[in-house]
Amino acid sequence: MQLAAALPSQVRRWGRAVIDGVLPPRCLNCGATVDAIDALCGKCWAAMTFFAPPWCAVCGLPFPHPMGEGAICGACANRPPSWDCARAVFRYDRHSRRLVLMLKHGDQTHLVGAFGRWMLRAGGEVLAGADLAVPVPLHWTRLLGRRFNQAVLLARAIRGVGGPPVGADWLVRRRRTPSQGLMGPAARARNVRGAFALRRGRSVAGKRVVLIDDVLTTGATAEECARVLRRAGAASVGVLVLARALRAGN
Ligand SMILES: [Zn+2]
Ligand SMILES: [Zn+2]
Repeated sequence: MQLAAALPSQVRRWGRAVIDGVLPPRCLNCGATVDAIDALCGKCWAAMTFFAPPWCAVCGLPFPHPMGEGAICGACANRPPSWDCARAVFRYDRHSRRLVLMLKHGDQTHLVGAFGRWMLRAGGEVLAGADLAVPVPLHWTRLLGRRFNQAVLLARAIRGVGGPPVGADWLVRRRRTPSQGLMGPAARARNVRGAFALRRGRSVAGKRVVLIDDVLTTGATAEECARVLRRAGAASVGVLVLARALRAGN
């Protein structure tokens, strides 16, 4: 008999709390037994690339050696982005992909809590003095299929550990853009041009805004959202993501 399914969700939650107190906690990534809840095991932790200084003062790209206070990378020097400062928790690669996908496709509330704490720590410079966190929006047709926007979950998790208030629906996606998976940087930039707008009736004038997303790949989406926020008068635009893809060699 499907007894668990018949129980009210509250009772199931109590059950979960009881089980959590008895069974050893599991690694968020691989399920191995770990000492603390909402943690990675030593092996998964060591395989991930967590970003740390020295890094580009603008985009957070790690430098192989210290380059001095305020040093910026070649890409930021050649084409200054529309946002002021971007930070990411870890590199998006084959070791971290599973964690990122679990957030996107699963109902992983415990995962979101850990990610919120990691993003608060990695995003200290971006979040300092911020007035508002704005998640990168999904098109409503994608929301129907997925039920939630992972960027909103992350923004709320960061808020839950002391981050700025969340403007969950402040940015809107005006049209559905094709999936960017196989596109190069130029195609991605064309793909998202004009795709975002500030919701009618919202004002970011004079506000220090932080864009929140799960993954930064070429930065085309963040660039386009930042442009919209700047045009609307935002005093500054930061970018804080969970994972950032780097080209080979970086
Ligand atoms: Zn593990
Ligand atoms: Zn840079």
